[in-house]
Amino acid sequence: MTDATAPITQDVITIPRKLPEGGRTNLVGLTRDQLRDALIAAGTPEKQAKMRVGQIWQWIYHFGLRDFAAMTNLAKDYRALLAEHFTIEVPEVVSRQISADGTRKYLVRIAGGHEVETVYIPEENRGTLCISSQVGCTLTCSFCHTGTQKLVRNLTAGEIVGQVMLARDDLGEWPVPGEPKDETRLVSNVVLMGMGEPLYNFDNVRDAMKVVMDGEGLTLSRRRITLSTSGVVPEIARAAEEIGCLLAVSFHATTDEVRDRLVPINKRWNIETLLNALREYPRLSNSERITFEYVMLKGVNDSDADARRLVKLIAGIPAKINLIPFNEWPGAPYERSDWERIEAFADIVYKAGYASPIRTPRGEDIMAACGQLKSATERARKSRAEIAAEAGL
Ligand code: SAH
Ligand code: SF4
Repeated sequence: MTDATAPITQDVITIPRKLPEGGRTNLVGLTRDQLRDALIAAGTPEKQAKMRVGQIWQWIYHFGLRDFAAMTNLAKDYRALLAEHFTIEVPEVVSRQISADGTRKYLVRIAGGHEVETVYIPEENRGTLCISSQVGCTLTCSFCHTGTQKLVRNLTAGEIVGQVMLARDDLGEWPVPGEPKDETRLVSNVVLMGMGEPLYNFDNVRDAMKVVMDGEGLTLSRRRITLSTSGVVPEIARAAEEIGCLLAVSFHATTDEVRDRLVPINKRWNIETLLNALREYPRLSNSERITFEYVMLKGVNDSDADARRLVKLIAGIPAKINLIPFNEWPGAPYERSDWERIEAFADIVYKAGYASPIRTPRGEDIMAACGQLKSATERARKSRAEIAAEAGL
């Protein structure tokens, strides 16, 4: 087991925004301010910059356009200038699997040839997109398949926003210019619950969410975005202030002794420290409830006593408890709790006054459920030097 007191962020590689391809900058994932700066640097007169940002933003994020030549409200030579300096790129979908229940899992290739997974979960009148924030994860939660994969690198803001865009491509969700707008949203919610610990890639996640939440374009409100963290305490207040989305926390245990084993970051920031940070979140972010995720592991964390301890611990925090039946993966050291046990646990939590939905596993047949995300083709045990070389660093 790794030493959770060691500086965990040291293995994270962040690649610069500029992609190697022809030295052109990818505009996807730039915030409005960054886009403005980029346009000015490429020769856009300063007094036109704001208007150009608005026009280009609408083409990219409202209409889903990838080609400057088709931006018909811009002068031809300006379109040529843009094409010379910039690209509009989203990660490539290498494969798509569709589960019997309609869940779609995309294997997505990012710069350097690495792969992450994005999962679309359709529900009645809405749909949730589960996106990744890192390739692999530096943390080693013992029940999580992603945790067995060595971290390769942080995703860029463009690669994070790009996952929302490629799902809309696949679902055919972009409006057509001139045609009436269809108000039903297929991707109505985004959860940062795929591969990686989003708070260890803070700046890119924040910038990406700024783009996704912008009032024009993808326009998902901050209440439709949920960031899930294993409990990176120092970044929780920052997430409230700088992102302001809903928060989910991978709680999973009611004693430090058990949480140390399940979520090793607990050795660094224990339950009490985590709860103190969580108590502040709703006020700082002006949001309602915090979601406590609780994976049900047979004989490990699923007793009545655990349920009672849980409600005592979170007393005073506006909360919902999501009970997640453990998703098994080959070689996993745990089993899923029996259904009756999960229901008994849910009942105690519910009677204490908290919503306690049991999450129905989705997309199990394609290994798309929580914690099963791990790209089969990832050549896991590479040296950091190899990885850096591949990423063009
Ligand atoms: N790193 C972040 C977000 C990604 S994990 C975090 O840990 O919160 C998304 C959720 O899936 C977390 O609550 C995680 O604990 C849960 N999870 C991981 N592996 C799982 C498994 N095998 N079965 C069920 N849930 C799992
Ligand atoms: Fe990383 Fe989250 Fe998996 Fe833990 S549960 S190893 S933090 S992805």
